[in-house]
Amino acid sequence: MPTPSSDDAFAEVKAKVDLVKIVQEHVRLTKRNKDFWGLCPFHQEDSPSFKVNAQMQSWYCFGCERHGDVFTFVELIEKTDKRGALQLLAERAGVELKKLSPEQKERSDSRRRLLAMLKLSAQYYEYVLWSMPAGEPGRRLLERRKVEEETARRFQLGYAPAGRGFAEYLRAKKRSLADAQEAGLMRRDGTDFFAERLVVPIRDERGQPLAFTARTVRQDEQRKYINSPETPAYVKGRVIFGLDLARDEIARRGHAVVMEGQFDVITAHGAGIQNAVASSGTALTDDQVRLLKRFTDELLLVFDSDRAGRQAAQKAVLLAAAHQMRTRVATVPGAKDPDEFLRAAGAEAAKLWEDLAAKAPSGFEFGMEEAAAGLNLSNANHVELAARRLREWIAQFPATLQEEYRERAKRWMGVSGHLLAAEPDERRTLGRPGAPRSGKNGLETSPAGKKVTVGRYLLQLLAVRPVAFDHVRTKITPDELDEEDRGIYVRMLETYERGGVSGLEKELAGYPAEEQDLIRRAWAAPPPNVDDEVAVELAERIRLDHMRGRHSGIIRELSEAERGKDSERVARLEAEARELGRAIGDMERRG
Ligand SMILES: [Zn+2]
Repeated sequence: MPTPSSDDAFAEVKAKVDLVKIVQEHVRLTKRNKDFWGLCPFHQEDSPSFKVNAQMQSWYCFGCERHGDVFTFVELIEKTDKRGALQLLAERAGVELKKLSPEQKERSDSRRRLLAMLKLSAQYYEYVLWSMPAGEPGRRLLERRKVEEETARRFQLGYAPAGRGFAEYLRAKKRSLADAQEAGLMRRDGTDFFAERLVVPIRDERGQPLAFTARTVRQDEQRKYINSPETPAYVKGRVIFGLDLARDEIARRGHAVVMEGQFDVITAHGAGIQNAVASSGTALTDDQVRLLKRFTDELLLVFDSDRAGRQAAQKAVLLAAAHQMRTRVATVPGAKDPDEFLRAAGAEAAKLWEDLAAKAPSGFEFGMEEAAAGLNLSNANHVELAARRLREWIAQFPATLQEEYRERAKRWMGVSGHLLAAEPDERRTLGRPGAPRSGKNGLETSPAGKKVTVGRYLLQLLAVRPVAFDHVRTKITPDELDEEDRGIYVRMLETYERGGVSGLEKELAGYPAEEQDLIRRAWAAPPPNVDDEVAVELAERIRLDHMRGRHSGIIRELSEAERGKDSERVARLEAEARELGRAIGDMERRG
């Protein structure tokens, strides 16, 4: 329970932190008039309904209606309680809390000490690298890897000399060796954990070192790289390497380049690719994608060109899609990783990179190419295998994307596209869920065995039962009908509106010959079920088909716009496709 003194603490902390800044660590905010807007972190949404009022230091979501102040926000986002939120924020604001429980105080103190120790060690290693004779092996390694001093300094690279250099340094500074051990920097005997290695700080998006990865400088060392252990300050899979340096360029370029290794990123920045980051020692995780989403909606994935790298890329594509992020995948030709590729390119690196990035297919297309790799699409068996792999690939994406991706895959497969349909028969069957497959409208059981189109069927029904127009005309507009059915539909509708149920008989002689023919044949042999309900069903089905057609049209336009890099058009088309996709989904569910 908050005591009076802790109420003071809430007020004191609240006065010292800025809600906008705190929210921005989790949500990308855009300023509109006085307020800041972003995608709500507490519910799934495509367009921003989460608003932060800087003046009132309050936030509100118009989608899920959650709201509150900085404490409520931290409570929800960090999944803690009010006390926990106070503590986290007090730590940041530098406010001493008197009423902390002993364990809470211990945890908060130890984390703070750890972070300070990590910062200090990074400074020490950097100093050794550039200013001590002992740093020589590290400098030689950087030279071999063509890393310039300026780049190395931006990443705060350092060198850990052999022996107990760091322990001596700490003693001289009267700092605790125990903290250094806890931070994973030192063994119990005081020797440096990273001795004789080039050390690379892994920093959070604000530049605070959380851990190190270290590469040996010795030829005879089996373990090329070693990493800090996980500590209260460092959880693997939550940090994005290089994000502190790349965040501005990511915002400027509109996408992040995601690589696998730290040296890929260091070399990339050296070559001018300053929006490059790395997942750092793990496959891309959910937490990392969420972190990146605060800065961008698009990832350009550049993984190693081996099998493992390509599989990692596919997983990353799916993970990003689950967070509504776009991806593209670049593969470096003739090199095992981006580091090797860029170093080999030398002065040409930036230019070659631009070409590579421009040609990178979307993550979805990359997966299609992988599915068909090694198959010959003019061989029927291969085609079927490719179609199966493509179906599996598509099925892993969020449901909202699948229809669109099936369309794209169909076009990509060309004539064999029909193999991709998810459940072709179910989708085409009229009637409510659970109704027998041969619906009462008889579409599937047409006696001649020849399927009547839905449009034709509706026209026959209306010829026999013009009064059904009363139900149908509000359901569809003529332009939703196929072109060949449109003229006769409009003519029959006008006739009905002029002359009622008997109008058609009177005016039929004035109709074009083939329309007369259609109507007379319907009179002679009416379709199996002639009632208003079926008429409405048919009309809705026509509407749905029309919407599906429009949807694929937009998707086609979208790939064009994407190729043309017309991001405004892409955004507009994506919004249209999404809206239409949703409407189609609604109709299908009702269907
Ligand atoms: Zn919300």
